[in-house]
Amino acid sequence: MLKLPVYLDNNATTPMDPRVLEEMTPYFLEHFGNAASHSHSFGWAAEEAVDYAREQVAQLVGAEPKEIIFTSGSTESDNLALKGVFEMYATKGNHIITVTTEHKAILDSCNHIEKLGGKVTYLDVKKNGLIDLKELENAISPSTILFSIMHANNETGVIQPIKKISAIAKKHGILFFTDATQAVGKIPVNVGNDGIDLMSFSAHKIYGPKGVGALYVRRKNPRVKLTAQIDGGGHERNMRSGTLNVPGIVGFGKACELCLIEMKKDIDRIKHLRDKLEAELLKLDETSVNGDTHHRLPNVTNISFKYTDSQGLMLGFNKNIAVSSGSACTSATTEPSHVLQALGLDDNMAHASLRFSLGRFTTEEEIDYAIDQVRASVLKMRKTSVIS
Ligand SMILES: *Cc1c(COP(=O)(O)O)cnc(C)c1O
Repeated sequence: MLKLPVYLDNNATTPMDPRVLEEMTPYFLEHFGNAASHSHSFGWAAEEAVDYAREQVAQLVGAEPKEIIFTSGSTESDNLALKGVFEMYATKGNHIITVTTEHKAILDSCNHIEKLGGKVTYLDVKKNGLIDLKELENAISPSTILFSIMHANNETGVIQPIKKISAIAKKHGILFFTDATQAVGKIPVNVGNDGIDLMSFSAHKIYGPKGVGALYVRRKNPRVKLTAQIDGGGHERNMRSGTLNVPGIVGFGKACELCLIEMKKDIDRIKHLRDKLEAELLKLDETSVNGDTHHRLPNVTNISFKYTDSQGLMLGFNKNIAVSSGSACTSATTEPSHVLQALGLDDNMAHASLRFSLGRFTTEEEIDYAIDQVRASVLKMRKTSVIS
């Protein structure tokens, strides 16, 4: 039996995998110790669990456990990477290169850095959402200390050429930071092969709990240093103080382990469902996919339905399908998505777009239902539409 509403907004957050919750529960109730308490067994049990989770997290991305700094999520990791590098490498330079389609956690942090006297270049993207590598190389100056370029985009799923970007960074002695919140756990990400120096990711986007994430910080070739943005007891190699969120970290570890084991199976199944949804919706006239469809996550499709608007379409589903119009993080405002604008969509087309993001628990029955509902809503709205 189909259970309503159908959740197709997994890029905003995912439900927890029940296996994750099961792993976490004892760390609220019995093993509630502080991982920094070294004088008794409560503390030791917590510390042991954190150590184990750190290995699970590191393994998913090909890192050493010591290179994983636990944070409250990707927003914090993004802030720590950008502000921490900017402060630490101030004598080397003050220039950062990023991209207009980044998440607000990156763009707003860069904005803050500009107020502190930093220089930031915001690269445009091509119509397909990919950056131009020549433009990236041309933007480099002697004061460039950091590239901050996301792995996969949250709104379109477009995947940037990470290996080519890291090669350019390495050639010029520049650090490469990537917000990989949407890529980690969904597609293979390996900080070694990919040449990544710093990387953000978050538990709640990969079937773990909210409020916990990580910043990967490379320890050799090169050894990356950061200025802490939260001072205190010197936790997490002095980069992020504060009592560790032990149950959250345990859940994050389990979520990473499950992604590693089930990634291939999940990719095949989810991609099949995404492709079906997309193909069926594209049978409607004047309908197009936003962003490159080859360099793209397997779980997302962002579609513009010309002569409609997303608010009206969502009313049409009668609250039975949860999707996003543009970025969930800015959905409180009715501004057109900055990502879709960067791809060259005009305001009408940006407002006529829906993001469907599937996940581990999406079923074929749900996709069939969504196809029917969305098609009906588009056709109905176009019949009565005054938008042209
Ligand atoms: C969700 C998301 C974030 C924010 O992560 P939180 O853990 O919710 O703070 C940052 N960047 C990208 C690309 C995201 O998708």
